[in-house]
Amino acid sequence: MQAEEFSPLDMDAAELDERLAFIQWSDQDVQRLNQWREGSEELISACVAALYEHLDQFAEPSAILADATVVKRLQGTQRQYYRELLEARIDTAYLHNRARIGQVHERLNVGLKWYLGSYRLFLDHMLEGMHAEGSGNEALAAFQSLLKIVFFDITLAAEAYVGASNSALVASESRFAHALRGANDGIWEWALESDRLYVSDWWAGMLGFTPADVGATAAGWLELVHPDDVEGLQSALRRHLRGETASLYHEYRIRQASGDFLWVLVRGVVETDLQGRRRLAGSQTDISRRRRSQDLLEHAAKHDQLTGLLNRRRLNEYLADLLLRQSRPGARSAALLFIDLDRFKLINDSLGHAAGDQVLKHVAKRLQACGRAGDYLARFGGDEFVMLLDDLATPADAEDVARKVLTALREPLRFGDRYLVVNASIGITVLDARHTPEQALQAADLALYRAKDAGKARFQLFDQSMQDEVRDRLRLETDVLQALQRNEFSMHYQPVFDLHAPSGSAPVAVEALLRWQHEGEPVSPVSFIPVLEESGEIIPVGYWVLEHACRQAAFWQQHGAPHLRCSVNLSGLQLRETDFSQRVRDILRLTTLPASSLVLEITESLLVEAEGHSVASLRELAAMGVRIALDDFGTGFCSLGYLNRFPIHIIKLDRSFLAEAHHSHSQQAICRAIINLSANLGLDVVAEGIESQDQVDFLLAENCRFGQGFRLARPMTAADMQRLLTPDVGRPEIGA
Ligand code: C2E
Ligand code: MG
Ligand code: MG
Repeated sequence: MQAEEFSPLDMDAAELDERLAFIQWSDQDVQRLNQWREGSEELISACVAALYEHLDQFAEPSAILADATVVKRLQGTQRQYYRELLEARIDTAYLHNRARIGQVHERLNVGLKWYLGSYRLFLDHMLEGMHAEGSGNEALAAFQSLLKIVFFDITLAAEAYVGASNSALVASESRFAHALRGANDGIWEWALESDRLYVSDWWAGMLGFTPADVGATAAGWLELVHPDDVEGLQSALRRHLRGETASLYHEYRIRQASGDFLWVLVRGVVETDLQGRRRLAGSQTDISRRRRSQDLLEHAAKHDQLTGLLNRRRLNEYLADLLLRQSRPGARSAALLFIDLDRFKLINDSLGHAAGDQVLKHVAKRLQACGRAGDYLARFGGDEFVMLLDDLATPADAEDVARKVLTALREPLRFGDRYLVVNASIGITVLDARHTPEQALQAADLALYRAKDAGKARFQLFDQSMQDEVRDRLRLETDVLQALQRNEFSMHYQPVFDLHAPSGSAPVAVEALLRWQHEGEPVSPVSFIPVLEESGEIIPVGYWVLEHACRQAAFWQQHGAPHLRCSVNLSGLQLRETDFSQRVRDILRLTTLPASSLVLEITESLLVEAEGHSVASLRELAAMGVRIALDDFGTGFCSLGYLNRFPIHIIKLDRSFLAEAHHSHSQQAICRAIINLSANLGLDVVAEGIESQDQVDFLLAENCRFGQGFRLARPMTAADMQRLLTPDVGRPEIGA
C-alpha cells in the first residue's frame, strides 16, 4: 500500500497503516469484497433506488433532489461509489476521492446526518443480499469485511466534511480580518465577567502602541480615552449591555503614544455563551480624517472667517444660555461688551481693505488677550466685536475689562514702516435674566451709541434711562407724523428789524417758525423737523406752513403793515417736488400775498446738493419775484462761488459768528468780510441771533442793515405779533 504521497486528509503512510491495522484490514478482506462485487450489480442499483426514494421522504434532502436530471446523475455517481467500495482499493486516488466527496457534501450543505445515515441503508441491503446468496459463514465474513471498509470510509468522509467546514471558517475569518485591515479597523474583545480585554495588533498599532501596552483589562482601554469622552463611552457601553441598543456604536477620542488624541469609532456586539458569560467584541476605526473635515465645517458655521472668532449666530446661542443661567439662584454676574472701532471706515478707505482686514485680525488678538477662559468673543461683522463675560464678582468688573480693552487697543499697530492707532468705543450691559438676547444686545448697543456720542474712545455702562429716552424719542417720532392731522402745529413769528431805522420802528419782516406742542410741552423744530424730513411728511407740513404764513402776512399787510415781508423756511425735500414753484404761485394767489413780499429761506447744504431740478425751481421762483435767502450762512460748506451761480437775494449771517464776534478778532473779521462781500454782490444781510446791545453796535458799525434776535424780539404768537405791528387794530390771529 503506497500512501506517502500527498493526502488531502493530511494522512501520512504511518497514519494510514495505523488506521488499517485498527480496523484489522487484510488482503483477505479485499478478496472477499471483490468476489461479492461480481454479482452485486443489481443489488447496488436496487439499493441506490431505495436510498433516493427514502431520502425523498425528508424535507431537507428532497429539496436538494428536486431536479430529475440531477438525481439521475447523482444516482450514477452513487452506484459507482458503491462499486468502488466493494473494489476495496485503498490508494491515493481513493483517498482523494473520499476527501473530495466529503468536501462537496459540505459545500452543498448536505448535513452529516443524511450523508452518514445513508450508509445504514446500504449495509442493510448488502446484509440481506449476502444472507440470501451465500452460506452462513461466508456471508458473515463478507459482511465483516464490508463493515471494515464502510467504517474506514465513514471516518474519512466525516473527517473530510469537518475539515472542509473548518477551512471554510478559517477562510472566512481571514477574509474578515483582511477586510477590517483594509477598512482601517482594529479588533477587540472583552470578556466582561473575567474583565479580560483583547485588542488586535492593528487596534493598538493605530495608536502607536502594542497590545501589551494597552493591557489585558478594560481599565487599560478606558485610561486612554479622552477625559471629556469617558462618560459618553461608558454610557454607550451601558446602554448596549442593558439591551437598549442593538449594537455599540460610538465616536470618541483616544490617546495615542504621541500624547495626541485620535478620533475613533468603536463598534461592537455583546454575546452570551452557554455558561451565561458575556463577551463584547467588535472593531475600532480611525475616523480622524472625517472628523477633521466635519470639525472644519462646524467651525466655519460657528466662526467668523476673517478672525476665527465666534460669529453672531454662535454668540447669540451662548448669550441665550448665559441669560438662562442668570435666573438660577446664586448665579454670578455676567456682562456683554459691545465694541466698535472708531473711524474704522477711514482706515479702510485710506489704507485699503486688505490693511483693514489686518487691523481687524490684530484687534481680535488683542481683545482675546483681555478676556479670561470662559469668556466668549465674537465678531458681528465689520468692525463690531462682542465680548461676553461670565462669572464676574461684581458688575464693576466688566468696566475693568472695558478699560483693559481700551488700553490694549491704544497700543500702536505696526504696518510696515508706519504705525496706526486704533481706538474703540464700548457699550456695556450687565445681563439681566429677564432680558432676551436681542434686548441685551440692544442695551449694549445703546450704551455704545452713547459712548460714541460722548466723544468716542471710551466705554459707557447701560442704564434704564437710556432705554426710556429711546422709547420717548420713538413715541415722539410717531406722534409728530400725526401732528398735522391732529392740528397740533402752530406758527410763531420773529420780527426782523431795520437796524438803521429809529428805535421803536415797526419790523420790516417776520420769520415764520413752526411750533409743535407735544403732550403739553413745546418741542424744538431742531428735533422734530429731521423726523418729518426723514419720513417725507415735511412736504404736506411745508405747504401748510407756507399757506398759513402767507395768509397771515397778507392779513397784516392789509391791516397796517403794507410793506411787511414774510420769511418761510424750506426743507431741501420741498424744492425737489416737481411742481413746487407752481404750488407757491397757487398759494400766493389764494392768500393774495404779493410774490415780492415772500422770502424763502434755504440752507447752504441745499445749494451744495442741489440737482438741476431744484435749481430750476429756484430760478422760476426768483422770476416770479420771490426772494431767496441763504439761512445760517457760514456754517455749511458753501463756497462764495455759489452766491453767483444761484438766484440769492439775502444772506442770513449765522448767529455763531455774532456770538463770538465781541471777543474774537477773527470772527469779527469774518463777519465784516461777509457783510462787505454781500454789499458788493448787491445782497441784503440779515444778522441772526442778536442777543446784546454790543452786537447791535458792532453791526451798525459794520453797516449791516437788518437783524433779528432775542435782544430785539423773541419769536411770538400771531396775536402778539399783531399787537406789535398794529397796536391800534388789536385783532386776533386768523386761522389757516
Ligand atoms: P432758523 O431758520 O435759523 O431759525 C432761527 C432760529 O433761531 C429759531 O429757532 C429762533 O427761535 C432762533 N433765534 C432767534 N433769535 C435768537 C437769539 O437771539 N438767540 C438764539 N439762541 N436763538 C435765536 P427755532 O424756532 O427753534 O427754529 C430752529 C430751526 O428750525 C430754524 O432755524 C429752521 O432751520 C427750522 N425751522 C423752523 N421752522 C421751520 C419750518 O417751518 N420749516 C422748516 N423747513 N424748518 C423750520
Ligand atoms: Mg430761518
Ligand atoms: Mg438761521
